[in-house]
Amino acid sequence: MSKFLKARYCSLEVYTPGEQPRDKKYIKLNTNESPFPPSEGVIKAVNENEVRDLRLYSDPTANALKAALADLHGVRPENIFLSNGSDDILNFSFMAFTEKGAMFPEISYGFYEVFAELHGIDYVKVPLKSDFSVDPEDYTGDGKMVVIANPNAPTGLCLSVNDIEGILKANPKSVVVIDEAYVDFGGQSCYPLINKYKNLLVVQTFSKSRSMAGARLGFAIADEELISDLERIKYSTNPYNINRLTMAAGVAAVKDNDYYMENCQKIIENRDYTTRELEALGFYVIPSKANFIFAKSDKIGGEELYLKLKDNGILVRHFTKEAIKDFNRITIGSKAEMEAFIKATKQILEDIK
Ligand code: PMP
Repeated sequence: MSKFLKARYCSLEVYTPGEQPRDKKYIKLNTNESPFPPSEGVIKAVNENEVRDLRLYSDPTANALKAALADLHGVRPENIFLSNGSDDILNFSFMAFTEKGAMFPEISYGFYEVFAELHGIDYVKVPLKSDFSVDPEDYTGDGKMVVIANPNAPTGLCLSVNDIEGILKANPKSVVVIDEAYVDFGGQSCYPLINKYKNLLVVQTFSKSRSMAGARLGFAIADEELISDLERIKYSTNPYNINRLTMAAGVAAVKDNDYYMENCQKIIENRDYTTRELEALGFYVIPSKANFIFAKSDKIGGEELYLKLKDNGILVRHFTKEAIKDFNRITIGSKAEMEAFIKATKQILEDIK
């Protein structure tokens, strides 16, 4: 840290992304990426001509991509905001809608707290119920922006659209951000509620179900006034926030929607398979609607299993937070990857007997 850094940033606890090691080839089940490549349409769209055009700025209005997404969701382009990964939308929301502070579940996506700290926002971390679920009744507004990942991470548990509507009704004076990064794996999106609730901001990403984590593309769906607020922040930070290659890839990915939805079905099947196998090995697995599962065993500690799997060339995500330190979050990959994971886990349990 240099002596030039502003005092308020010196004590920041930064977000720690999942490991991306380069020392050897791992079966990567630690950052909820897709095991499937982007669709053929995407591979064709990011072609030599697009690369040649990189000398030009990208379209700051992103009209083509907004139109494609609006068409897919049956909303208007004015209801869509695009960003460099959905993290950017979350960041902008923490900048824009937190006059009275923010509230989010105590166990959830770690970045919410980092954004709140970054912007010096007053925030409340709401405990989960003992079964790790979010209690919608806890989110009754005093004007604080509400942020809920649905499905939640790292638990994979999902609230119903009815529950979300309850939260919207209870918080008419604040923005309710529903982070649907994992919604395509069995959850139900609440974006149809944007017509009824002007305070609803739904955030989604191309990083998980659309196999484009490396392209950095996120989007929000909301009433056009909320979208225009986000545009104000974007035009005050980085107007060209979507690069040309990602823009082309995004338009092509929306056209190939069926391919991605079929892949989500495969992930759901592999999730069921992995859950069954882990349960047969005595694990407790929280029922997940995401492309990961959260599981623990009373035969082996969370960290020990994580380290032993890593020795076997398999990466999962372990969190050191006291309440969840017995668990590991395991991304659902291809069938072959999940078979390898189960085989290694069985062997590890055998070895420590
Ligand atoms: N929300 C949640 C709940 C996540 O787990 C992630 C991925 N780490 C994100 C948002 C951000 O994803 P991205 O920036 O890749 O769109």
